[in-house]
Amino acid sequence: MIYLDNNASTALDEEVIACMVEVMREDYANASSTQHKLGRRANHLIESARESIANSLAVESKDILFTSGATEAINILLKGFFARYQHFGKHIITCTTEHKAILNTFQSLEQLGAEVTYLPVDKNGQLDLGQLKNSIRKDTLLVSIMSANNETGILSPVDEIAEICKDKKIPFFSDMTQSIGKQKVSLDKIDFACFSAHKFHGPKGIGVLYIKNNGRAKVLDPLISGGTQEKGLRPGTYDTPAIVGMAKALAIATNTNRDTIRQLRNFFEKEIVKRIPEVVILGQASDRIDNTSNILFKHVRSEVLFTKVPMLALSSGAACVSGDSAPSHVLKAMQLNDEDARCCVRFSLSKYTSKAEIVQVLNILDDAICDIRNESPTWQLFKAGLL
Ligand code: PLP
Repeated sequence: MIYLDNNASTALDEEVIACMVEVMREDYANASSTQHKLGRRANHLIESARESIANSLAVESKDILFTSGATEAINILLKGFFARYQHFGKHIITCTTEHKAILNTFQSLEQLGAEVTYLPVDKNGQLDLGQLKNSIRKDTLLVSIMSANNETGILSPVDEIAEICKDKKIPFFSDMTQSIGKQKVSLDKIDFACFSAHKFHGPKGIGVLYIKNNGRAKVLDPLISGGTQEKGLRPGTYDTPAIVGMAKALAIATNTNRDTIRQLRNFFEKEIVKRIPEVVILGQASDRIDNTSNILFKHVRSEVLFTKVPMLALSSGAACVSGDSAPSHVLKAMQLNDEDARCCVRFSLSKYTSKAEIVQVLNILDDAICDIRNESPTWQLFKAGLL
C-alpha cells in the first residue's frame, strides 16, 4: 500500500513510539497525584513536554493547553470565548473553506445567537483582505481563519490577517492543524491557535489550544466541569504518554528538513501534467503547504478512481453521506462546479514518502485514468468536442 493520505493522519515516528511505550510502562501514575514520587514524576513529564512544545513554537509554556486534539481545542475556544464575551458583541468572522470542526462549531453558536460572516474565497482559494477589513463591525468579537487548508494545502496570509485584527483590536484565532509540524510558523501575532499531534507523526487523541497570555486574564468559560487540570479549562486526567509523544513528535518535526517533501510534491505535479491530459492542479497560483496536491482529473469521478487503485491510500474532500459523495464545500467555494469537484483527489505526502513510491503512483494513475476514460461515454463525448 502506498500511503498518500498524510493530511488525514500520519504514521507514528519510531522514536515517538519508543518514548511513549516507556512512559506507558513506567509512568502510569496520575500526574495530578503529586503526593507521591511516581505522581510527581508523571507531572514532571507533563510539564517538560509543555516546555518542549513551547520551545518548538517559540512561545511561553503557560500558553500551551492540552486537549484531545484540534476539534476539542476549537470547541473550547470558540464556545468558551463566545460564552464569556457575547455581551460585548455577537459577531464573528470566518471563511467558507474552514474545516468542519470550525464550521459546525459556528453553526451551533449561531443557534445561541452568534452572527457569523463566512468570507468567500476566489478560484485560487484566497480571501480578499479588503473584504475582511470591511466585514469588521463594532460588535465583532473574533476573527477565525485557518493557516493551511486541509484539502488543498492553500496557505492564508496569516501575518497580514493578524495585522488587520491588531489594528482593529480584535482577537485572531487560527486553526493551524495543517501547518504546525509541517512548516515554520510564527505565533507572534496570533492570539489563539490549535493543532493535533497525529498530523506530524505523533499520537492521535492529543493536541493543543494555544492561548496567548493565558493566565493573565480568564478569557474563556470552560465547556466541561471537573478537576483543576489545565487551569480548569480542560479538566480530566492527563494522558501522559500521548502528551510526551506529542512533544517528541513536534521536536522532531521542527528539525525535519522539508526540502525533499516539497521537491517530491513538485516532481509529482510536473509529471502528472506531462503524462495525463485534462488535469488541473488546484490552487497552483497560491502559496501552498509543501506536502499537498489536490488534482482535478476531468471526467474521472474520485470514487471510481479509488476502486480502481486499491493499492493507493488517497482521499477526496467529499464527505460520504449515505453512499452519495457530496462535493467538497472547499472546492465548491473555489468555484468548481459539482461535477469537477467530484473528480478531485488529494495527495498528501510525508517524510516517509519515497521517490520510488511517487514514480509507482504516477504509473498506476496513468493506467487507471486511461482505462476509466476509455470506458467512459462522457469522456468520448468530451473528446469529440460534444461536451
Ligand atoms: N482543522 C483542520 C484544518 C484539520 O485538518 C483537522 C483534521 O483533519 C481538524 C481541524 C480536526 O483535527 P482532529 O480530528 O485531530 O481533532
